[in-house]
Amino acid sequence: MGDVKKWGSEDFWGLGYEFDPQWLLTPAQQEIQEKLIALCHSTLRENAIESDKQLLFPRKNFEALAEQGLLGLLVPKELGGLGENHVAAAMVVETIARYGCPSTAMCYTMHIGAVAAAMLRYHESDVIQDIMRRIDSDCLVGTLSYSDPETGSHFWYPISSRAERAEDGWKVMKKASWTTSGGFADWYIVQTTSPDFAGDYSNLSCFLILGDEILSDPANWDGLGLRGNQSGPIKVDDVTIPEERLVGPVGDGASSNDEAVDPFFLLCSSSCWNGISMGLIDIAKRHTTQKKHVDVGMRVCDYPTIQDYVGEAIIDTNTARALVFQMAQGMDKVTDNCDWSIHADTSVLPRADMLHWMWQVKFAAAKNVAHVSDKMLHACGGTGYKPALGIERYLRDGKAGWVMGPTNEVLRQFVGKSALLGFDSLDYWNQSVNERVLHNEIKKLDTEAKKKLAEELLAE
Ligand SMILES: Cc1cc2nc3c(=O)[nH]c(=O)nc-3n(C[C@H](O)[C@H](O)[C@H](O)COP(=O)(O)OP(=O)(O)OC[C@H]3O[C@@H](n4cnc5c(N)ncnc54)[C@H](O)[C@@H]3O)c2cc1C
Repeated sequence: MGDVKKWGSEDFWGLGYEFDPQWLLTPAQQEIQEKLIALCHSTLRENAIESDKQLLFPRKNFEALAEQGLLGLLVPKELGGLGENHVAAAMVVETIARYGCPSTAMCYTMHIGAVAAAMLRYHESDVIQDIMRRIDSDCLVGTLSYSDPETGSHFWYPISSRAERAEDGWKVMKKASWTTSGGFADWYIVQTTSPDFAGDYSNLSCFLILGDEILSDPANWDGLGLRGNQSGPIKVDDVTIPEERLVGPVGDGASSNDEAVDPFFLLCSSSCWNGISMGLIDIAKRHTTQKKHVDVGMRVCDYPTIQDYVGEAIIDTNTARALVFQMAQGMDKVTDNCDWSIHADTSVLPRADMLHWMWQVKFAAAKNVAHVSDKMLHACGGTGYKPALGIERYLRDGKAGWVMGPTNEVLRQFVGKSALLGFDSLDYWNQSVNERVLHNEIKKLDTEAKKKLAEELLAE
């Protein structure tokens, strides 16, 4: 790889490799990155404008990514994939978001999450192995469908979904309020309560659902940013699927969340937000170094204020990137470089122990992109406010970072609460009683009210 970052036949107009942590990438990963930047130049970035304007799912970009083998980035070489690791996944998403198309980067994030959930339990599954073998040749886009209309950003709580045993397999009902690539993906990993569900919402199972088994209404999708990512509601309406489409054992949902879906979503979505931040800084560099104020004979970049904006944005973004890549390396270390064969023993869940670090990764990247997009808009002035420069689109795309589940409100509470009260206090499925609150409230009742409450409880 050359030392100079290229944009087509010319030198790249944004920040060069001197501000990228290139030393973290293997030679093979640097080659993937270089080819991908070239693809962003020739194809992805132009399509991003079209996707944003017309709410168009970036299928053309996925076809281009598939030609480079990137849909199978994490698929082992023996199944025809690139056999890459967590660092590569973070780098690829960041590169797509920064130089190409943030909507594509988010759809790719969900694809990687779905690949991870499937690969976690691919060992004895012919149907998963078949998809993985054809993932690039047939451009098979995957996604995750978790969020439930009744529980909002508590996406681990699928209250309005269920699965039952059927004669030849499973009958699955899934109502999802948001699904990236919804209606456009070729395969979906969906989570419902388990077929043996008896009221315990931590008893979850995952199913593989194919594109023609879901109901969606893409025409109704609209959003502030990431407009090409088509995150509309979908429904799997009591569809009967074959036995083998259960992903992992019955009741594997919580383990699958902690070991595959959450770590990869948090890693890759954070890389998307960092890519958007870097993309904004790139645009601001190009604009402020070209725009002149004739009266004072200065370019915008000559003002110390603008230099401070850019300096702070680079420092903050590289802090967020450093945490992403540190955790990617950490997960590579505990999984023998993302070797899926270690999970043949279903109790091997090394990423799950790092989840509270991944919460921090996403919080930092999503918080940063909101700040950086604001400051790069300020640095570019009124010209940045107009769509033509590209700042405006990246700013809208970056806004999804904070609100996507797990939202930043939820994450900072997870981190603070677990640090102060222990991990059990998080009580994802609303099962443990807060005795302190209970007694405090009862203390406020007078004797008569206590008696009434006791009678009501006894009657129950
Ligand atoms: C672009 C985009 C793509 C998406 N793609 C997918 C996808 O592919 N698959 C998928 O399953 N989902 C997806 N989602 C859904 C996402 O993960 C959330 O489920 C969704 O954004 C929740 O929206 P809501 O309006 O229900 O928020 P609400 O849950 O109603 O949140 C409203 C506010 O309450 C806060 N809040 C919620 N719970 C708590 C709490 N316990 N403590 C403190 N504050 C709290 C929130 O942080 C927020 O500020 C996507 C969302 C977006 C924006």
